[in-house]
Amino acid sequence: MSRFWSDHLADLTPYVAGEQPKSVTNLLKLNTNEHPYGPSPRALEAIKHAASDRLRLYPDNESVKLRAAIAQLHDLDIKQVFVGNGSDEVLAHIFNGLFRRSGRALLMPDITYSFYRTYCTLYQIPVQLVPLADDFSIRVDDYTQAHSVEPAGIIFSNPNAPTGIALTLDDIRAIAAANPDIPVVVDEAYVDFGAETAIALLKEYDNIVVVHTLSKSRSLAGLRVGFAVADSQVIQGLNRVKDSFNSYPLDVLAQAGAVAALEDTAYFKQMCQAVIDARTQLTEQLTGLGFQVLPSKTNFVFARHPKFEGAALAQALREQNILVRHFKLPRIDQFLRITVGTLEDCERLCNSLVKILEKTY
Ligand code: PMP
Repeated sequence: MSRFWSDHLADLTPYVAGEQPKSVTNLLKLNTNEHPYGPSPRALEAIKHAASDRLRLYPDNESVKLRAAIAQLHDLDIKQVFVGNGSDEVLAHIFNGLFRRSGRALLMPDITYSFYRTYCTLYQIPVQLVPLADDFSIRVDDYTQAHSVEPAGIIFSNPNAPTGIALTLDDIRAIAAANPDIPVVVDEAYVDFGAETAIALLKEYDNIVVVHTLSKSRSLAGLRVGFAVADSQVIQGLNRVKDSFNSYPLDVLAQAGAVAALEDTAYFKQMCQAVIDARTQLTEQLTGLGFQVLPSKTNFVFARHPKFEGAALAQALREQNILVRHFKLPRIDQFLRITVGTLEDCERLCNSLVKILEKTY
């Protein structure tokens, strides 16, 4: 690195997403938790319609229609809604605006979405890791007990990633109530696949920030739309951060497509249910093959086989053109994170696993 970069950037371990192959035929991609079905046809129509000569104009920098659609969906005021280029960008603004410069540590589970650690390094926010319980759940008591030093805030995914395990609304209420003076950020990227959203708690607590994405349950990872909802004063601060960074975060196509996707409730519900049904079947199939599968409320399962290394299984699947995610991290090294695909995808995955397990026995 050039001498112009400060040490903390030299130490930065960038977030590494799962492999995004360019072109392999017959590839089954179950490594980045994308939705197996396409987005709402109404969203595609809206994007096509928006792709006109009006693209010569700048987009609405306040994304008013989109924020109004989100507010309506969740019974909020538009002033409580902040949107960004995927929830990763929304999270970046949250870390920068809410946690940077406090000098105090951000409390988070030791096993959670790895981008949180990356942002902490980038923004030089100290981190205090809280180990997950033995069953890989988040232990609520660890976040409700008095802290020896007041943290800058708390962040976790709910359901958590990559475990897939969800806290209940009462758990989140308890965490928010026990920490009234710091922000509690709940990243609900996967909440629509069977967990309870904490958005309703915004009426009771002004310290909760809930982050959502359209990448998972709305099947729009390629469009890059995410949002945060919180007390209007928190959102006001996030808008200041955004306006000092990129005041046009969402392009015209993204705004149009996102509004239409959010309005298509029937399609959304049907597609979430299809994933939930496939998850139930996949869980049964993997359990039948000897895997331990953690109870998932997401569009992926986190599973380990008592007799096989996670890395070896991931590699063997890769050789059969099936991508799954393996993390070389303490405690979860044995696990595979497998995106729930269509029923046919699950069938193909399990058939391959049967062959791999037989060969290795
Ligand atoms: N939060 C969690 C827990 C995730 O797994 C992801 C996707 N990798 C994101 C946020 C970011 O999603 P996006 O930027 O596509 O909205």
